[in-house]
Amino acid sequence: MLTLHVDTARFRANQHLTLGKAPTLVPVAKGNGYGLGNAWLAEEARLLGVDTLAVGTYDELAEVRDVFTGSLLVLTPWRPFGSAAVQTHDDRVIHTIGRISDLRDLAERDPNARIVLEQRTSMLRHGFTAQGLREAAELLDSLPGLQVEGVALHLPMGGASHLSEVQRLMNDQVAAGLPPHPVWVSHLSDHELAELARTWPEYAFRPRTGTRLWLGDRGALRVTATVLDAHPVARGDVFGYRGRTAPKDGTILVVGGGTAHGIGLEAPTGASTLKAKAGALARGGMDAAGFVRSPYSIGGKQRLFAEPPHMQASMLFVPNGSAVPEIGDEIDVRVRFTTTTVDRVVFS
Ligand SMILES: *Cc1c(COP(=O)(O)O)cnc(C)c1O
Repeated sequence: MLTLHVDTARFRANQHLTLGKAPTLVPVAKGNGYGLGNAWLAEEARLLGVDTLAVGTYDELAEVRDVFTGSLLVLTPWRPFGSAAVQTHDDRVIHTIGRISDLRDLAERDPNARIVLEQRTSMLRHGFTAQGLREAAELLDSLPGLQVEGVALHLPMGGASHLSEVQRLMNDQVAAGLPPHPVWVSHLSDHELAELARTWPEYAFRPRTGTRLWLGDRGALRVTATVLDAHPVARGDVFGYRGRTAPKDGTILVVGGGTAHGIGLEAPTGASTLKAKAGALARGGMDAAGFVRSPYSIGGKQRLFAEPPHMQASMLFVPNGSAVPEIGDEIDVRVRFTTTTVDRVVFS
């Protein structure tokens, strides 16, 4: 079993700090819910008191809609097929629109739909070109029921400042004849947001924020695995799915967490040169035996996988001389939160 322990006070302090710097932010709950699950994030968003929560897909709406009672922005653009198409009229949902044909299609199905118009950025993911935005603005004149809630830009991460790109996109909005709608943005620094607010005072900028809000203080989160079993082995003993032999005396430790949780193999401990391999062999043959480093650690020391992770459990090799935890103990696991699914989340 994998457990995510949340230090609630620290977790929420980071949220309030982030919200304090950007009071118009829109929390994002999508995918595996940044390791916590979307339903928990919806509850945190409700407690934060924000007016809108963003989800990634139409299928994710069901995970949050009974917990968070405000508006729900779907980041994946609306399309006339799949889960978006079967979504019946819903006052709480804001659709992202990035193609003229989708604008027409959606308006036919729901003349009063709430929408944001997405602009294409250097990401080249979705959205209208400058010309497309102009056509969309014209079409909107004939679709007065549609409620335009804003314009959305999805920017690349990091790198140089995105300000010049955003300035160009803002100019495209003006050129399209759109009134100053709120602008929903991602991945801008506090400084860039402040600069934009100064340059475009009639516009409200709304940063869509996930990582910084939920994972901004990693120290607030800790993942542990339950020790499920322990088997002493002597050098040469056979174990595992692949009938491997123990390279020396020790313990095969069976711990919770496997491929189903997103636990994967880490890079091998040894370098690949012959000299490094010889060195590893001399040090006890662990690396040479093909053991690779695992994300699990015991007593602060990272442990080796005895074999690749199973579906819901993993086998570690603990050499003699190192402390072996008790069955039922919890040991630390280092995970990437956006690719890990835990069995339970414990707030304390
Ligand atoms: C995921 C996502 C975000 C939030 O990204 P973080 O890096 O987690 O803050 C913002 N906008 C869009 C369109 C996204 O898909």
